[in-house]
Amino acid sequence: MVQTLGVASHTAEFGFELRTCRWAELAWPPGAESESDGTAIVVARQLGTKRRRWDTIVLECDLEALRQRANFGLDRLDSDLLHVVRNAPAEWTYYRDALPHPGYPWRYVREAIHRADDRGILETRKNGNRIEIRRTWAYPDWVERIVAIENKPDLDASAARALGSQLEYDVAMGLADEVWVATEETGERVDPALFEDLPVAAGILALDPESLTADVSWYPRSLAVDEPGTRILERPDGGHRDDSAARFEYVDPATKAAKRLAIAERAYERGWRSFVDTMRPDCRHFELRARDPQQALPYCAAKGRCQTAAECSGSCSDFEPEPPVWRTRGWPIEGGPGKRSQRILEERRRRRRPGL
Ligand code: SF4
Repeated sequence: MVQTLGVASHTAEFGFELRTCRWAELAWPPGAESESDGTAIVVARQLGTKRRRWDTIVLECDLEALRQRANFGLDRLDSDLLHVVRNAPAEWTYYRDALPHPGYPWRYVREAIHRADDRGILETRKNGNRIEIRRTWAYPDWVERIVAIENKPDLDASAARALGSQLEYDVAMGLADEVWVATEETGERVDPALFEDLPVAAGILALDPESLTADVSWYPRSLAVDEPGTRILERPDGGHRDDSAARFEYVDPATKAAKRLAIAERAYERGWRSFVDTMRPDCRHFELRARDPQQALPYCAAKGRCQTAAECSGSCSDFEPEPPVWRTRGWPIEGGPGKRSQRILEERRRRRRPGL
């Protein structure tokens, strides 16, 4: 159920993270006078690569291209599907003549062709025993920039040190165009001493989760996303007796570009309201509480506060299934309040994808 009530404190990182996502959706980029035309924002959370996951991701997109991306549906396109749709020809062509060699067996390409056909994003036909393909739409170049934000409501010296090495990894890799730390606005300036533990290339944002306003304490530098990145594999611990060298490897720009697009596709599909997918809205204590007409935060009536996604799982000792009587109206087609919560968040996610 959605209630317009005060929301529990945002000191919990999870609640703060959801407020950062909502603020980014409304106000990105920080410091801008007015909304820039021709640009649209897609916000997601908890995405990245195998080695590094970011709290909040902001995609700056070309608005028209983002509308065209909607032709391919809300679900993400994985790398096999992208290989097919990005290279699909405008005229009927034998698939092996149309597509560059993928670097893996062609049978996987055929599987991807059939999946794309099933999703209605590629046309296929048989010519003898050959499969011919033709594109339905050109895949647009919709992502302009990727911005990563780490949320640290209580940014103290030890949190800054811990974040420092993660942000150094991001700066050396250059997978995101910009990296930021969002910390809670306390009414005082962010202590400049904390900046010393963070790379100068990372921006610092002081966010007030109540009023959803933010001040820039430090502007970030744009990272070299089109150049080879350096992946830090291991670093010396820095002790007096530690003469060991850091271990690293280079990552070529093509690999980075493919990873960036894969992250963007996942962000497009998930958005940030997908937190409910991993929680238990079917629990009788699960509620959505809205502090403004558009942001619904999860609230646990048993705990009396905003619960984290990790707490709200099958192993929660307070879990109780919602009573069947809650579902009597329209059940099982409409489901109970839990289902309604999921639908509300799903509708909001779709509304943020122009063209869907
Ligand atoms: S009791 Fe546990 S499972 Fe139920 S809403 Fe609260 S945190 Fe989630």
